[in-house]
Amino acid sequence: MITVSEVEVPELPLQRLESVIGVDRMKRLMSAADSAQHLFAGRTLWNVNSTATGGGVAEMLQVLVGYTRSAGIGVRWAVIAGDPEFFAITKRIHNQIHGDPGDGGALDTAQAAHYTEVTSANARMLLERVRSEDVVLLHDPQTAGLVPALRAAGAKVVWRCHIGSDLENRYTQAAWSFLRPHLAGADAMVFSRAEYVPPWLRDGSVSIIHPSIDPFSPKNQELDDKTVKAILVRAGLLAGNKGSSPATFTRRDGSTGQILRPADIVRAGPPPDPGAPMVLQVSRWDRLKDMIGVMKGFAAHAASPHVGKGDANLALVGPRVAGVADDPEGGEVLAECVDAWQMLPTEIRERIQLVCLPMDDVDENAVIVNAVQRHAQIITQKSLAEGFGLTVAEGMWKGRPLVGSAVGGIQDQVTNECGILLEDPFDLDTFGRGLARLLDDPEEAQRLGANARQRVQENFVGDRHLLEYAELFEAVVGA
Ligand code: UDP
Repeated sequence: MITVSEVEVPELPLQRLESVIGVDRMKRLMSAADSAQHLFAGRTLWNVNSTATGGGVAEMLQVLVGYTRSAGIGVRWAVIAGDPEFFAITKRIHNQIHGDPGDGGALDTAQAAHYTEVTSANARMLLERVRSEDVVLLHDPQTAGLVPALRAAGAKVVWRCHIGSDLENRYTQAAWSFLRPHLAGADAMVFSRAEYVPPWLRDGSVSIIHPSIDPFSPKNQELDDKTVKAILVRAGLLAGNKGSSPATFTRRDGSTGQILRPADIVRAGPPPDPGAPMVLQVSRWDRLKDMIGVMKGFAAHAASPHVGKGDANLALVGPRVAGVADDPEGGEVLAECVDAWQMLPTEIRERIQLVCLPMDDVDENAVIVNAVQRHAQIITQKSLAEGFGLTVAEGMWKGRPLVGSAVGGIQDQVTNECGILLEDPFDLDTFGRGLARLLDDPEEAQRLGANARQRVQENFVGDRHLLEYAELFEAVVGA
């Protein structure tokens, strides 16, 4: 039985962005909000995806829906459902769009029939609520199958794909052939980079929109050093006295939250000392994020007693694997990481922790990510493929240098003045040496980090994202 659920997001005042984006950008945003309010009078803007928590799309919807509501637009967020077979198929499509075979399974007529069956059932449920004058913004491959039924009911339908590959191969072709029949009727499509648009869509109605971060969400809000430490001690990532200061933060609805749940941590020995430099990667447990590669590169070059003050540690941080509804491979990938960690010499194992964050409370989860990004001296995103990589913008916003692979959207964010871009994401030697270089030169790390923050302020804050959406909807509804 398919049930489409809805996520309630508190209204977030657009005005608060002014302190970050300045008066001129704020004026442009308010004027676009005004036009959008007229455009959407009597219509609802639906966002539809396949998980309420975990991953970049959910992260953005948690705030963009709130800002849109404060612009006076009727906006709702629905989450589709599926069985394990459906999510195995959509994860396969996800991997193949990134040019990777994934679990090696087929995308054939049997999978197409199951995909159509599940997405059609979701569309029927959704159509009990969506009206013909509404606009529906569908996110990612899980929802592409809803396009035909929603279009047939008269709604305007935009499909946004947050993933992609700069190169074509037989896997990308297979995945796009699978999705193509569903997408034919969409009023418009959105991709994160021009390179991600499949060849058969290049003449169509396609917009390129980069994702964004929100400086005020629990994920990115300012936290002083004392609070950062208190949160990380409470969550179990750092050594210290759990009761020494309050581990509190501001929730999206403005109330005060507290860290109540510790993380699940695989580690040998006590938590790292707060004074020791931390290298960090935050990712879902997904093979394409290459947490194992990060561990090996760190172990080979940065865990040496001759690097920095000789006491650097690595934290690999992801969600508890049961917490991400549409990612069935998380448990398996985490187990592979733990196996790889167990193979390391004891003295290196003691420098590395594998952390699974609680997912019961989305704001609590977010603020732990925020605190660990602020605590880290260097942030890595050594993905083998990446849609955009929100974790990169998040880390840069905290003034940290990024060591990332030159793949997908990571290249759009990290310049040589903000960190180190790894030409070959499989090159663990260069990666590990890059980490060691920045650990040896904290001043340079700090300089790159300051540039990184400025780059996010100029390019990856939500006002730009909302303006681009406003322009797109104007074209779609106007047509
Ligand atoms: N994330 C999180 N908690 C976790 C792990 C990840 O909130 O335990 C967030 C992370 O901070 C980022 C998003 O999930 O906002 C991941 O987005 P990204 O674009 O980096 O990758 P995706 O998961 O969409 O492939």
